[in-house]
This record gives sequence, structure tokens and C-alpha cells, in this order.
Amino acid sequence: MPPFFRHPASLEHDTGHGHPERADRMRAIEAELESREWLGWGPREAPAASEEQLLRVHPAEYVERVRDMSSRSEAFDMDTPTSPGSHEAALRAAGGACALVESLLGDGERTGFSALRPPGHHAEWARAMGFCLFANVAIAARHALDSLGAERVLVLDWDVHHGNGTNTIFHGSREVLFVSIHQFPFWPGTGALEDVGEGEGEGYSINLPVPQGTGEAAFLSLVEHIVLPVARQYRPDLILISAGYDAHRNDPLGGLALDTASFAAMSNRMRALGQELDAPVGAVLEGGYDLTSLADSVAETMAALTRGPPQPEVARHPLAGAAAGVLGRYWDL
Ligand SMILES: [Zn+2]
Repeated sequence: MPPFFRHPASLEHDTGHGHPERADRMRAIEAELESREWLGWGPREAPAASEEQLLRVHPAEYVERVRDMSSRSEAFDMDTPTSPGSHEAALRAAGGACALVESLLGDGERTGFSALRPPGHHAEWARAMGFCLFANVAIAARHALDSLGAERVLVLDWDVHHGNGTNTIFHGSREVLFVSIHQFPFWPGTGALEDVGEGEGEGYSINLPVPQGTGEAAFLSLVEHIVLPVARQYRPDLILISAGYDAHRNDPLGGLALDTASFAAMSNRMRALGQELDAPVGAVLEGGYDLTSLADSVAETMAALTRGPPQPEVARHPLAGAAAGVLGRYWDL
């Protein structure tokens, strides 16, 4: 039974009235899953991340600072407020992602989901931003590498915003191949196609910016014509999805045009990739602010990660051609 990590601490991270990254996101997701009998998945309580897990990515002073700021309900910036419950929520969000990779690499589960808040992909090694406190996916990837025997981790980030945190944390590393499809130009401003990583990690950061209004045809082509061939050459031991749902056409923050079924179509391809490469596939929640679209899309992601026939091939989109022009220096595309 695939695990679905959650925790009531996610409800106690109070971002204040009118903030899009709110506790109702969790309630909407869980109500939808409840109505579908959790799709046969097993809800599990996320543990708190250990100090050791956090310190592989964040410096001790920063971890301490999140605790202090939270106890005083101080904001890191206008977007990133805290409350007394934020510290525990952030520990559980990072811990859920770590527990997910333990299920995948330790217990032999083929897929799973960690659906907690705050999200993590904007958090840099010593900087909270963009609703994010700890870098959940980066911490989970490090845990897989340092404690669970993984040698290569592929992270696909399909949140509408560039995952600047994950990108910068692994910018000089080959141990994590970070791929992000995101609206551009858009907040936070990073993630140009030419940003391919640096030093040893050159070629191992893959940024796939797409213009406002982009929809499913381009996303599926980028997955099929860039992500899949690169992944086959990289041969990851673990595939993680930074699963944000703010590229949905109904999202109030994003400007892209994916449908609920688009997330299922991408998930289906990642499941097939995982089967082909014998690598489990775990999803970690990032953004997504239209409650109905968020809840439906999470459920459809989970369904597609466990079942469904293979998807037909899609036509090569011009954006995939442009990306191949730059990334062809590093990968056979
Ligand atoms: Zn986002």
C-alpha cells in the first residue's frame, strides 16, 4: 500500500488572513482523498525531521533561526510569515519527505506522496523565502544519498515557480539531477534555460522555462523529449517530484494552463520511467492555491502513480527543440 505522509501540525502553520499558502489546502486535499477512500493508499503520520537530516542541507544557525522566528511569529519576508506552530510544521514537512524516501528505498514501496506544508523548493541553504522554510525535497534527496544507499537522485519540479532552492543547493553536484519546468519570466526570476549548473554539476541542472499561457502540449513534450531521455542516460536510483499544482489553469497565482488531467499524464510518464529504470517515484507537495484544482490534481497524481495504461507519444513542441539546442551539449537529445 503506497504511503501518504501527512500530519496535523501542517494545520498549525498560520500564515495569516488572506495568504494563499494556508491550512485549508491540507483540508481540501484530505477531504478529497477521504471521499475516494484514499485511493487505496495508506495515510501515515509524518515524523519530525531529525537534526542530522536538516543539517545536511541547512547550517545550524539557520535551523535555530527558524525555531526562534517561529516562536516570535516573525516574518522572513512579506511572503513568508511564521507563527508558533510553524517550526513543528516545517519539521514534519521535511520529515515526511525523508520518511517517504525511506519507504521507497528501505521498505520497497514503488511510490508514495508526502503532502505537508510549508512547501520547500524556494528555501535555500540559509534563506527562507516564497512560503518555504526548510528545503524539504533537497533534505529528502540528501537523506537518500547519505543514509539509504542512493547514488543518483532525479528531481522533477513541475511547480509553476522555479525551484530556486533545490537548484542552488545542488548547483555544483552530480548526485542530484534537478529538472524544473516553470513559468518564465516570473517570480523568483531564476531558472533560465542557460542555467545548467556549475563545476562538477555543469549539465546536471536542467531549467526548462515556459512563457505565460503554456499548457499541456508543451509540458508533456518537455517531459517526453527532455526529461525521459536525460533520465535514461542519468539512471537515477530514486525519482522525486516537487509536485506543485499552481501551473493549473485555475490557479490564482500562476499564469499557465495545465488541466487536472495534465498532472495525471505527467505522473503516468514518471511511473513508466520508474518502472523502466527500476527506480521508485515519490511526490512531495509544493504549491497549488486553487483548493478544488489542488485537491483533484493531487488525487489524480496518486491514481496515475499507481495505475493506468501507457500514454501515447506527443508531438515535439518548439520549446523542447529550443531546450535540446542548449542541453544537447551534455545529453544525447
Ligand atoms: Zn509555486
